[in-house]
Amino acid sequence: MSKTVAMEDIVSLTKRRGFIYQGSELYGGLSGTWDYGPLGIQLKRNISNAWWKFFVEDRDDTYGIDAAILMNQKVWQASGHVDGFSDPLVEDMVNKKRHRADHLLEDAGVENVAAMSTEQMNQAFKDNNIKSPDGNELSEIRQFNMMFQTNVGAIQDETSVSYLRPETAQGMFVNFKNIVDSFSPNIPFATAQIGKAFRNEISPRDFIFRVREFEQMEIEVFAHPDNWREVFDEWLELQKQFYLSIGLPEEKLHFIDVPAEDRAHYSKHSIDSEFDYIIGQKELGGCAYRTDHDLSAHMKHSGKNLEYRPKDGSPAFVPHVIEPTFGLDRLVLAVIDSSYVEDEVNGEKRVYLKLPKHLAPVKVAVSPLLKNKPELVEKAREVYAQLKKDIGSVMWDDNGNIGKRYRRQDEIGTPYCVVIDFDSLEDNSVTVRHRDTTEQERVAISDLVGKIS
Ligand code: ATP
Repeated sequence: MSKTVAMEDIVSLTKRRGFIYQGSELYGGLSGTWDYGPLGIQLKRNISNAWWKFFVEDRDDTYGIDAAILMNQKVWQASGHVDGFSDPLVEDMVNKKRHRADHLLEDAGVENVAAMSTEQMNQAFKDNNIKSPDGNELSEIRQFNMMFQTNVGAIQDETSVSYLRPETAQGMFVNFKNIVDSFSPNIPFATAQIGKAFRNEISPRDFIFRVREFEQMEIEVFAHPDNWREVFDEWLELQKQFYLSIGLPEEKLHFIDVPAEDRAHYSKHSIDSEFDYIIGQKELGGCAYRTDHDLSAHMKHSGKNLEYRPKDGSPAFVPHVIEPTFGLDRLVLAVIDSSYVEDEVNGEKRVYLKLPKHLAPVKVAVSPLLKNKPELVEKAREVYAQLKKDIGSVMWDDNGNIGKRYRRQDEIGTPYCVVIDFDSLEDNSVTVRHRDTTEQERVAISDLVGKIS
């Protein structure tokens, strides 16, 4: 990949080609929100479908869930989010812009920030004479809760308070007993969920990397406390295998053992997965050993017994949880980022997305060589209809000349372009042009589906 590729190139391509638009763009945007266009949602779906197949459909120990986004406020009191789900905030004393204190410290080269208390961070600002990005004095730090609060129903008082969930995990913990009662699974077993999560991030940034509304794909594996380590290692390995299965290059993936002082308070062991994005090495997902923290907290707050009773009559226990978590938007960005290629074809710069075929939003584009020749269009329509029926994500493209169509399809990562020309009318074969090599070959129409899929 060319070294000059910048985030702006990706933002610009994804907007131009209908992958991702600024949220509420018509009204000047809404910070921390992005809208997926037709190709973006297809790419995102292809990734989440691959995830669902890998972790749910292909396994017999994982149960899919789709819990409500709004939950009883007691869920978030029990989980600790009401009291503790906050980030440290500092305010620019002149222009009132707000910033994540820990990010400013890290940007200034201060080490071990994640392990610092609020007081220690305040001190670090003074010791290092750190100013706001605009060069102004900063306020003292205050903790800012990131949950979006709302009221459910017509009465707005304390009893009707609810939150847009900041993680999907809790929806699985509160359904633990339902799954056990409905399916009597042997332990270890897992639940999996894909869904929106919301965090009122102090400073959303880096395109879809840090946003206020995003999608998570999370798994909670319920295990006996005696063999948590074995289960952890098994699921961490699965997490790695999934990253590789969607084409993320192994050399860009890093698995970081999070030191005790940096871990969430409930976690006894965590391995973050980081990825070499264009913007640097950043968190893509993680695998955390959450112990019995969540189930025990819900047991205490709800007064319901959430112990697991083994079928062999051995003593009941509160399962411990291993949680592989994935940020879907961060995966979309990683896939686009690592697929973005600039090369030269016949002396001209070309940009293409080298997407793995199973993720490409459009698998094949079909064109008549000339769009003003009805006999070509008719034949091309027949081929298009057949491919659409057999392959699904096929695009009709007769805009501009053939060179322009190829460039456009390259930019959206379409692996194959099929062109119907005058010879096709005689010999029932077509030209298939390959995205990565730009090579072209003649293929009989009857062999097309086999060739492409
Ligand atoms: P970060 O340190 O980057 O804020 P986190 O450690 O708070 O992330 P988790 O609470 O572990 O993140 O959430 C699980 C996953 O959800 C993350 O690994 C990431 O992929 C995704 N995620 C979290 N916050 C955001 C966000 N604001 N925008 C996009 N994805 C996010």
